[in-house]
Amino acid sequence: MDKRTFLKNSAILALGGTVATSLPGSLVSVMAKGTTAGEKYILPKLDYAYDALEPHIDAMTMEIHHSKHHAGYTRKFNAALESAGLEDASVKDLFKKVSQQPAGIRNNGGGFYNHKVFWKSLSPNGGGTAGGDVGKAIEKSFGGFDKFQELFSKAAATRFGSGWAWLVKTNGGLVVTSTPNQDNPLMDVADQQGYPLLAIDVWEHAYYLKYQNRRTDYIAAFWNVVNWDYVNERFNKAAK
Ligand code: MN
Repeated sequence: MDKRTFLKNSAILALGGTVATSLPGSLVSVMAKGTTAGEKYILPKLDYAYDALEPHIDAMTMEIHHSKHHAGYTRKFNAALESAGLEDASVKDLFKKVSQQPAGIRNNGGGFYNHKVFWKSLSPNGGGTAGGDVGKAIEKSFGGFDKFQELFSKAAATRFGSGWAWLVKTNGGLVVTSTPNQDNPLMDVADQQGYPLLAIDVWEHAYYLKYQNRRTDYIAAFWNVVNWDYVNERFNKAAK
């Protein structure tokens, strides 16, 4: 760096900025993740700030979960697709025959998709009971919102090790289920198939910083931030 450049950069720093922050925010975050332009799947942005779900889900957990874990799944999913020559396949088709795909596609494709649904399932304005069409369907399938909530919480609490609990739409109505690791109900390996409407991540990375071993406290807190508008959107999309 010559003296002139040094002085220029020093001036920028003195003004409270850095060279990097003069780039658009989205570009900085993409570059920081090591994601290169042209990759098929991009880490989605959240609709809210990392601290927006406090006190139910803490800011540090959200930041690490999104910017490290989800970013990692996204990066590795792109790499797995590339090495299998499957860049042109749709996620839906890959999941339908995931038992025939390399493990990297199952684990990282699931990780990419599941977290996408999860972030959207949460909102600082969420919580309460389900309204709209999904509210009616929950009533019909489970005999009441409380009964559904109890079933879903139990599925999340009893999933051994790492995994997810789900509310899914099937031809026979709504069903609660859970999957290990990064599997999901769109995959042919899942015990219960269906279209995911609501997801909770019960990997320890989703709650350990705030709740340590108390997974049930995290599940109880989750209900305060469920985005029922989004669950309704997915329900109506699946109905078509
Ligand atoms: Mn996770």
